[in-house]
Amino acid sequence: MRETFQIKTLIFSIIFILSFNSVIYTQHNKDSKKILFVYGGWEGHEPEKMRDLIVPWLESEGHTVTVSPSLDSYLDKKLMKKLDLVLQIYTMSEITEDQEKGLLKAVRDRGVSLAGWHGGLGDAFRKNVEYQFMVGGQWVSHPGGIIDYTVNIIDPDDPITKGLKDFKVKSEQYYMHVDPINEVLATTTFNDEHSYWIDGVTMPVVWKKKYGKGKVFYTSLGHTRDVFDIPEAWTILQRGIKWALEK
Ligand SMILES: [Zn+2]
Repeated sequence: MRETFQIKTLIFSIIFILSFNSVIYTQHNKDSKKILFVYGGWEGHEPEKMRDLIVPWLESEGHTVTVSPSLDSYLDKKLMKKLDLVLQIYTMSEITEDQEKGLLKAVRDRGVSLAGWHGGLGDAFRKNVEYQFMVGGQWVSHPGGIIDYTVNIIDPDDPITKGLKDFKVKSEQYYMHVDPINEVLATTTFNDEHSYWIDGVTMPVVWKKKYGKGKVFYTSLGHTRDVFDIPEAWTILQRGIKWALEK
């Protein structure tokens, strides 16, 4: 009698656990997106460390991430067709005409989002102006190298910067050529210490924009992985990626 009761309890427990798991599984996959993380280029921007920071976080959010050390992924039509987002850290380097075309078409014509930070997106493929047209900016200088500067939140209502206060960074202060179409969420102001003629210039640090059908998120923060130990910087990058993943 007692054994029968124990077996019944066991069976009910198994059924309960299985059904509970299937609910979790369904919820878990409802918002699951397909992401391509492409890393490489200049090693000083720590592409591997950034991969190890971002990919596990995306997977913990339930997304499927294809991790690629090669720009040839942009040639993979089957892969590019099913993507929701491309994340790229590939400083300087060169991209072939076909690789560039694969990326541009995915974003502009099929509405795949693009997100990235610092030189991995904003100083990649210096010869490719259409690529720069897509990103909305190109790095040209970081006067003084590693310096102390302030990031000012200029849109405290946007979901990416909501609730954040201005914060200090010790890193490269990016001076960029930027696109007026960018919706700028945070800026930094240069002083005369390293390049006297840019004293008082205010420069975008975080923006979002469109390129054709695609959404583009960018922040110039993140010369090295440890910049994202600053809670505000990590929050901005995470929220920017989340914004890029929304349809
Ligand atoms: Zn840098």
